[in-house]
Amino acid sequence: VSENGEPPTAAVHELDRELGELGVVTDPVDLVRYCEPFRGRAGTTSAVLRPASIEQVRAVVAWARRHRVRLLPQGAVTGLVGASTPPPERGEQPSVVVSLERLDDEPVVDPVDRTAIVTAGTRLSRLNEAAAGHGLALPIDLGADPAIGGMAATNTGGARMLRHGDMRRHVLGLRAVIADEECTVVDDLSTLRKHNVGPSPSHWFVGSGGAFGIITHVALQLEQLPTSRACAWLIPTSDDAVLDVLLHLERHHGSWLEAFEVVSAAALDAALSRGSAVHPFGERAAPALSVLVEFTGDGGPGSADGGDAAEEHVVAALEELATEGWIEDGVVVDPTRAWLPRHAVSEGLRQMGTVLGFDVAVPRPALPSFLRRAREVVAQVAPDALVADFGHWGDGGVHCNVVLPGADRLDPELAQRVREAVLGLTVHEVGGSFSAEHGIGPTNADWWLATRPEGVQHLTRQFKAVVDPLGVLGHPGLPY
Ligand SMILES: Cc1cc2nc3c(=O)[nH]c(=O)nc-3n(C[C@H](O)[C@H](O)[C@H](O)COP(=O)(O)OP(=O)(O)OC[C@H]3O[C@@H](n4cnc5c(N)ncnc54)[C@H](O)[C@@H]3O)c2cc1C
Repeated sequence: VSENGEPPTAAVHELDRELGELGVVTDPVDLVRYCEPFRGRAGTTSAVLRPASIEQVRAVVAWARRHRVRLLPQGAVTGLVGASTPPPERGEQPSVVVSLERLDDEPVVDPVDRTAIVTAGTRLSRLNEAAAGHGLALPIDLGADPAIGGMAATNTGGARMLRHGDMRRHVLGLRAVIADEECTVVDDLSTLRKHNVGPSPSHWFVGSGGAFGIITHVALQLEQLPTSRACAWLIPTSDDAVLDVLLHLERHHGSWLEAFEVVSAAALDAALSRGSAVHPFGERAAPALSVLVEFTGDGGPGSADGGDAAEEHVVAALEELATEGWIEDGVVVDPTRAWLPRHAVSEGLRQMGTVLGFDVAVPRPALPSFLRRAREVVAQVAPDALVADFGHWGDGGVHCNVVLPGADRLDPELAQRVREAVLGLTVHEVGGSFSAEHGIGPTNADWWLATRPEGVQHLTRQFKAVVDPLGVLGHPGLPY
């Protein structure tokens, strides 16, 4: 270890021959993009290793063991919990980034099996382009274009999780390199759906955030691309009526319901006044809550493009909801435009001040009361703050954003009080989760340590000691 906590240059260049010219990056200018997170403060690294094969990944892990250097596996750097890039403050143990971007082969799609084998660095968009040629898709939908290895490592959810589930539901098998003495390749890359042969090692790596192994290949279950799609924005008659709307749609239109997003007035206002979106209901004030629903399905034989089948179902559903007295208004919106206000929320909020974003989930029955209480507990610790929530209510997810006035300087103590208030309410008062979709990482390490049961923490550490006895894998801010 060199004096500044970095691996000595000579040690890094031991890998030159094994990884080739493109495999070892040390030029300070080239290093910058690997150190800038999507959100948060940038870190530094003295080297980025870019293996292009599983053998090269093994060589990197063996090297890290020899020199006790920590490896930070990296995909597309869209993670939101601070684990995708080196920490801003350098720790004692030297660390380097391992970018999987060169493990980027053309996805192997099997249209009969409806599966794909994908290398870790391949982007979601590339997989979906290849799958679309066969009328298939990996239906995990989000406002970013992550790499498949990163998606498996974080167990990505997304706006269509209500219908399709998360990454865990789509991973049939995977291949990963662990950091035991042999740098074992855990080869569980099966595309079989029925494969009930004891514990599934693949799923030990899903959601592990790079701490258990470096994922190199993932076998995925794909789904049929819908041929008909329609969207509507609704105004529920009350907060509680949102759940009536959701249940009605699930009971009577469940096979069509693809997404159910709820946006508060504060969030919609931010999107409309500061972002680029157009009001779904024309010129009027944003209602306390607005709901975006999406229906998708198959128009049936003889209808190549699926026709208006989804729209017919949406229109029928709106009439039923109005008759029941659960909505006061509802408009069908072209699916190419319907999501714009929803996607413009984050951009709009950022222009209003400093945004503290909490990615929480609560049991669905508690959603309306949770959001009322969130406003109360935030007002107690930060009277000037605005709660501007939106989220995937269909699966209990809420992006509970708290906007503090002023963008220049965040008071860390105030931020911590807000965090304790929102996460305390979520976990201790309503039995929810402090991390709905984004995973652990340095951002959520304290809550993992404070709230995950002792037995869970013990087993996680025991497992870590088996797959990584020297502690060379994963972001140093992870709690395991
Ligand atoms: C605009 C935006 C919208 C988003 N919306 C959603 C959403 O709706 N739902 C949701 O769940 N997430 C969402 N995210 C979060 C994010 O996209 C996911 O966490 C993402 O899938 C991470 O993939 P990545 O390739 O970018 O990984 P990175 O950010 O590069 O890495 C994330 C973590 O995975 C580890 N990792 C990466 N590759 C590997 C590998 N090959 N082997 C082992 N470990 C690895 C890293 O060490 C790190 O801990 C959003 C992000 C953005 C920017």
